[in-house]
Amino acid sequence: MSENASSADGQGTPTREAGGVRLRQVLSQLPAYVPGKPASAPAGVTPYKLSSNENPYGPLPSVLAAIGQGAAAVNRYPDMSVAALTERLSRFLDVDAECLAFGTGSVAVLSHIITAACDEGDEVVFAWRSFEAYPIATRLAGAVPVMVGLDEQQRHRLDAMAAAVTDRTRVVLVCTPNNPTGPCVHADELEAFLDRVPNDVVVVVDEAYVEFVRDGDAVRGLEVWRRHPNVVVLRTFSKAYGLAGLRVGYAVAHPPVAAALRQTATPFGVSSVAQLAAIASLDAYDELAERVAGIVAERDRVAQGLADQGWKLPASDANFVYFPLGTDSADFARACEEAGIMVRRYGDDGVRVTIGETEANSRLLEVAGAFGAR
Ligand SMILES: *Cc1c(COP(=O)(O)O)cnc(C)c1O
Repeated sequence: MSENASSADGQGTPTREAGGVRLRQVLSQLPAYVPGKPASAPAGVTPYKLSSNENPYGPLPSVLAAIGQGAAAVNRYPDMSVAALTERLSRFLDVDAECLAFGTGSVAVLSHIITAACDEGDEVVFAWRSFEAYPIATRLAGAVPVMVGLDEQQRHRLDAMAAAVTDRTRVVLVCTPNNPTGPCVHADELEAFLDRVPNDVVVVVDEAYVEFVRDGDAVRGLEVWRRHPNVVVLRTFSKAYGLAGLRVGYAVAHPPVAAALRQTATPFGVSSVAQLAAIASLDAYDELAERVAGIVAERDRVAQGLADQGWKLPASDANFVYFPLGTDSADFARACEEAGIMVRRYGDDGVRVTIGETEANSRLLEVAGAFGAR
């Protein structure tokens, strides 16, 4: 046994017991990322997976064709510079190509941002509950999460978040609409927040669900980004575009920040298949937007149905609804799963249910009605 290993305090960490290899202490402190459960259901009942905020629709024929085209060339490395997708997206968003940086899902881009901005012990401020990847990415980068509780309506308390910024803060994450609770941040709230935050702190506006937003007062990330050199907008092809399985997301950042995100990215991370599918999806945006409108209509139907049953839930501008049920969360999740609906439970905080197929949404309304409004 090496001197180092034997000089441990005698307790050892689980990772070191597993073969004596020295791994980082932080690994034993990380919360696990909990993936949504796969669909399962009692016999005779169609199961629905409403646990991962996925798009219920499969790829459009044109996107499938692009995937096939990419598949035929997978003996080659992808274009590391993601040139064709960068060019296409730059036109689509009307932002300069040098302001775009990609990754294997926006989860990866989030890690690139924190890695680029934080040294050991630097702080990352975000609301809680929010996206469960935030504390993991922060800890893995050696940074320290500073989590600021949501308000009663499950919304960000941006005043408290501004007050939590210290001279160790390097990044603030603002999730709008907030996963898993649903409300969006309003443009005036974010503007007031940015006035208070030093402009050497990176403020990430995570817009994973932006295509589902209908609240006219909501933050428009790109507009904010244009006016603030420290703002980074995070977007993904996983949700509205229905490409969760291909792993492609991006940041819109000012050129020095975008360059840093390319430096910290895994080389050749975004596959050629993913790049081609993302381009085809932008080309088919109108068709995808119709599907998104259908999901939004279903979300509004579900929200209205639940309100009619007497539920008082946070407003959702995303493709899911959130039941802040506290200690009743486990019972509600079980009731859903017994009816063949897989949902995402967050301990004793609440349960998130993705808007899926019409029949799945109707079944959610039945289960919620039978459970009884809270
Ligand atoms: C789903 C999600 C993402 C990113 O997902 P990717 O599949 O990694 O692109 C990012 N932020 C939030 C808040 C999400 O819910």
